[in-house]
Amino acid sequence: MIPFSPPRIDQKVIDEVTAALQSGWITTGPRTKLFEKKITEYCGCKTTVAVNSWTMGMQVFLNWWGIGEGDEVILPAYTYCASANVIVHSGAKPVMVDINPEDFNISVDAVRKAITPRTKAIIAVDLAGFPCDYDLLNDLVREEQFVAHFQPKGENQTKLGRILVISDAAHSFGAIMNGNRTGSLTDVSSFSFHAVKNLTTAEGGALSFNLPDSFDHEAIYKEFCTLILHGQNKDALAKTQKGNWRYDVEEPGFKCNMTDLQAAIGLIELERYQENLDRRKEIFSQYDEAFGAEAWAITPLHTTGSKVSSYHLYQLRIKDVSEQQRDAIMQEIFEQDVSVNVHFLPLPTLTAYKKRGYNIEDYPETWNKYHNEISLPVYFNLTDEQVAMVVLAVTNAVKKVLY
Ligand SMILES: *Cc1c(COP(=O)(O)O)cnc(C)c1O
Repeated sequence: MIPFSPPRIDQKVIDEVTAALQSGWITTGPRTKLFEKKITEYCGCKTTVAVNSWTMGMQVFLNWWGIGEGDEVILPAYTYCASANVIVHSGAKPVMVDINPEDFNISVDAVRKAITPRTKAIIAVDLAGFPCDYDLLNDLVREEQFVAHFQPKGENQTKLGRILVISDAAHSFGAIMNGNRTGSLTDVSSFSFHAVKNLTTAEGGALSFNLPDSFDHEAIYKEFCTLILHGQNKDALAKTQKGNWRYDVEEPGFKCNMTDLQAAIGLIELERYQENLDRRKEIFSQYDEAFGAEAWAITPLHTTGSKVSSYHLYQLRIKDVSEQQRDAIMQEIFEQDVSVNVHFLPLPTLTAYKKRGYNIEDYPETWNKYHNEISLPVYFNLTDEQVAMVVLAVTNAVKKVLY
């Protein structure tokens, strides 16, 4: 069976995790701090806080930004449930909008129409690793009419004076727009280092901050280190210093810090990330070449003059098929021992969001992309022979179901 997205665990990773285990320090410590520093350098952002998942990083962030009851946060209907779940838990209303015809990302025109005086933030998702139209989004929130109607709550929102742009960069670590990497393209970005993502720490994530210079990023870093650790103003490592046992909790915090065991994996992953991206790019090219020639195939957009994907997901689409036919094609692919996936079941098709009144019929482009989509295996250790096997399995399956 060709798996869909196995992690790259080799001796190098095992050695670094073993070194962390043997160091005597297994929770947040020197490896986590180094990992944060290296992410900040790599992304070109102002500061980074490592956490235990994209989800908890974003949850803490929304709480810190003061988002809650009565607020609205705009996001695409086409994303993983985590992007919306955190908004629900914050108490705010997820305002879902449709995606672009040419890619899988949030439509800035749709965002424009969805903005109200209650809009506090936009969560744009770099689907499959392809950066959103951040030039347009960053301009949009600065338009006079939207700035004039913005109703800030609290010190941070007042200082920003406009709608916040958040990047759900769970897929797009290392992706580039106008020469800059994700993490530095919007006010704040959240990465996921879950086992299936491009760069993994088993479970994990990071918040990268790139707010305007009027914000003190060093102070934000310190505040978040506290917020992700119960609100305790000294972490376990600081408390090991002689006589340094006393701490205080000024506000109840969360508990979602990254451990040094996770950071050990992440440091190795980051060190060799470019070769990971290079291999992914090769695999994308091989799929492009194979399917580009097929009349039934629609290949995904992953590079433009200003944007380069992180090649996270290869979202192949099959022309003129129903959702049922797509599912049947997937079944035939599995029968040939190749794992495939669908990214994603649109949020309005999930029970939790149907119950909350969302209807897929309001998101025609999301449906259009979803109903004939199949994600193919992409990862560093996938060989050329295996890519050829995937291509053959997909081609056989399409012929069997359609012809
Ligand atoms: C994986 C994923 C998340 C959640 O990441 P976790 O680290 O598992 O919390 C959020 N958004 C998108 C688009 C994802 O694919």
